[in-house]
Amino acid sequence: MEKLSPQKAEKLVAVKGMNDILPDESARWEALEQTVRGVMRRFAFENIRTPVVEQTSLFVRGTGQTTDIVMKEMYSFEDRLNGEALTLRPENTPGVVRAAIEHNLTYDGGKRLYYMGPMFRHERPQRGRYRQFYQLGVEALGFEGPEVDAEIILLAHALFKELGLKNVRVELNSLGVTGERAAHRTALIQYFEQFMDLLDDDAKKRLYTNPLRILDTKNPALKEVVHNAPMLTAFLGPESLARFESVKSALTACGVPWTINPLLVRGLDYYSHTVFEFYTDELGAQGALIGGGRYDGLFELLGGKSTPAVGWGLGMERVLELLKSQGQVASKPVPDAYAIVPDASALTTVLHCLQQLREQGVSVQMHASANAGTASMKSQFKKADASGARYALIFGVDEIASGQLTVKSLRDGIGAQTVYPLNAISQWALKLQSVA
Ligand code: AMP
Repeated sequence: MEKLSPQKAEKLVAVKGMNDILPDESARWEALEQTVRGVMRRFAFENIRTPVVEQTSLFVRGTGQTTDIVMKEMYSFEDRLNGEALTLRPENTPGVVRAAIEHNLTYDGGKRLYYMGPMFRHERPQRGRYRQFYQLGVEALGFEGPEVDAEIILLAHALFKELGLKNVRVELNSLGVTGERAAHRTALIQYFEQFMDLLDDDAKKRLYTNPLRILDTKNPALKEVVHNAPMLTAFLGPESLARFESVKSALTACGVPWTINPLLVRGLDYYSHTVFEFYTDELGAQGALIGGGRYDGLFELLGGKSTPAVGWGLGMERVLELLKSQGQVASKPVPDAYAIVPDASALTTVLHCLQQLREQGVSVQMHASANAGTASMKSQFKKADASGARYALIFGVDEIASGQLTVKSLRDGIGAQTVYPLNAISQWALKLQSVA
């Protein structure tokens, strides 16, 4: 154990790539979360909260052994007591599916779920890419039809519209079914084998494990080879094509523009049929806002009954960053009133009075001194003003002695004062609400 010496304790700082969200910023987060909850309610999606720590094997099997996440980015550790291999979740789709299997959530039909919470990936931190970041995700479990693929894309679109986000585009692709992907995979390997001398180390490593991933290489030198590679779309049979058509036409009918990106393969192993991403060009290299798709095989991979499913994950930091860069301001919430307490002897009366106001929905910030003494009226008024409150509630010694308090306007009609009996303060609260 490290010995703590009170005199020269070293300042501790947050872990690299993991950020504090301070009050100035958290108002924006709360506004986003509130909008999310409203949209989810309108689409009839229910909230699910799963643990941040899961068995490592959940991600090895679910996310996929050959993915960057599992090979390089997981925070994995051994439980000290029983040696269990555990991991801080790098994404939440496997966790939600694990919970759905464990609690038999889809026994009486499908479930539409959403979550918000931190994910952990050991990536190189930069703007828009963190080691702890927050994802909002939706997972629609137990629905086979393409209309649900379309619906969750429409949900994301509705959310962005309500947030007032501009210039976000939707890219789609279809990964078909296992047989179609296998035929494409063989063709891809044969094709890339002709260009072995051009392939970089990453591509060579992926050639026989996950050649599809070579298609989303970031290496500009490989762009041309990749561009001419056989595309999965050419291997899709009539059923897969018809499915994909239904998704596209539903989006078009609802006025959501989309483009096809045949190189969109998504980094995770479990996708089939529809895959999609939402992008912006306004955040530099970290322009992906949402990634998602259909993952009909995941339940079985994790030991459950075959269950169709589709979902997406959204990077909340990136959405907030984009909102900010597009000039959206989130106003910090201000209290309705600030309680000025010139003498500590009044505290019990004050707290009791504030309790009644708060029960009536009035938000009140009570003055609290930084040190044991009572701050002067002047400094309390200064604080009241800085808090942004519309009213000061003055609990002066004389007023309290006569069972009263003074309400002073700090904003409109500045300076106007009214005296209220303490036991009739709820009348003031009602009046306040009627003008709010
Ligand atoms: P993924 O699960 O990789 O498809 O990611 C879904 C979304 O989460 C992405 O489109 C990003 O918006 C966001 N995201 C992924 N990784 C990070 C990260 N390291 N930092 C911040 N956001 C991320």
